[in-house]
Amino acid sequence: MTRAVLTLNAGSSSLKVSLFPENGETPLATGLADRIGPEGVLKLKDASGTPIETTGDLTNHAGAMAAVIDGFRAHFSDLDLVAIGHRVVHGGADRDAPATVTDDLLADLERLSPFAPLHQPHNLAGIRAAMAAFPGVPQVTCFDTAFHRNQPFVNDTFALPREMYAEGVRRYGFHGLSYDYIAGELARTAPQLAEGRVVVAHLGNGASMCGITNGRSISSTMGFSALDGLPMGTRCGQVDPGVLLYLMDQKGMTATEISDLLYKKSGLLGLSGLSNDMRTLEAAGTPEAMQAIDYFVFRCQRELGAMAAALSGIDAVVFCGGIGENSRLIRARICERLDWMGIEIDHARNAANERVISSDIARTTVMVIPTNEELVIARAARAAVGLQEAAE
Ligand code: AMP
Repeated sequence: MTRAVLTLNAGSSSLKVSLFPENGETPLATGLADRIGPEGVLKLKDASGTPIETTGDLTNHAGAMAAVIDGFRAHFSDLDLVAIGHRVVHGGADRDAPATVTDDLLADLERLSPFAPLHQPHNLAGIRAAMAAFPGVPQVTCFDTAFHRNQPFVNDTFALPREMYAEGVRRYGFHGLSYDYIAGELARTAPQLAEGRVVVAHLGNGASMCGITNGRSISSTMGFSALDGLPMGTRCGQVDPGVLLYLMDQKGMTATEISDLLYKKSGLLGLSGLSNDMRTLEAAGTPEAMQAIDYFVFRCQRELGAMAAALSGIDAVVFCGGIGENSRLIRARICERLDWMGIEIDHARNAANERVISSDIARTTVMVIPTNEELVIARAARAAVGLQEAAE
């Protein structure tokens, strides 16, 4: 019998899955269904990297889910799922921890869809598909907002009329599962630093920073939506709201057109006119690609300054996400000229992607810690059904 925990991360056109053993941190299998629709593709592989064959209807999420399940069941003939964990982008103003799915919870999360219309409906569709495929298996939701829910009021609000705050127009912050994982890793491996003032820079296709002390989120660069803060692959990051008024009033753009512009055509892609992918931009060397990188780096430096203000100083910076974990160039560029913050990297350590990349004499420790959002979901799902944490 293979007793296992399934984690699901359903996006607008993708479904990321991991199958964890009941008691262990290394997945038995992982998979990604991408471009769900007429051109959908699904890749599953086991722990040794061997592809797991499966076929199915990849034109919609339910079909992709069925294909994943067929593949896993064929590969692990005695598969017994003990719990299923889901990434859900929005948990609302009060939810600061994972929650087990009930009809009431689903209805509540549905009501939050207008706050995250591009993601929440897909997350919920993933839960429904899993409930249909595995009736009786506990389903557990893990919210990207939960980690940030106890921030000080000044970091939680906008300077809008108070009734808007009550209605839910707040700074929620996202990437919470990643920050939760990094905070846990710091507490485990560098407890003294974890008690200090830490800025985690989650730099991937989506990018944000979070200021943390003692495992508690104090400030996040993302706000009401996952658009705010740092520029991203295709998202704009912080932008003057006056620009949006201009686009509506003077250019007659609709909300859908503006949403498309801000979420899908801006950021590195918009500035470079070439690609949302940092690797491509680093290799391209065109003036526009270099300016896009310059802007990304500058905004990261600027937000580090803002985080230092929010935390009254910085003891450690942790890079994670695809860019943070892999791009020695971007890490080095961000840390350049931040000696006034006690940041000074050791270029040999940085080039070798070592865990600590700051120099021995630097006042601020700079680290690279690969994030693991799936493991955070698996742990929450296990905890919800009363299983002990793995001791690996
Ligand atoms: P993520 O969304 O966390 O998967 O991160 C995706 C981003 O990481 C893309 O912009 C990639 O180009 C970038 N990335 C991954 N590997 C590298 C690398 N070796 N150098 C620069 N950027 C990278």
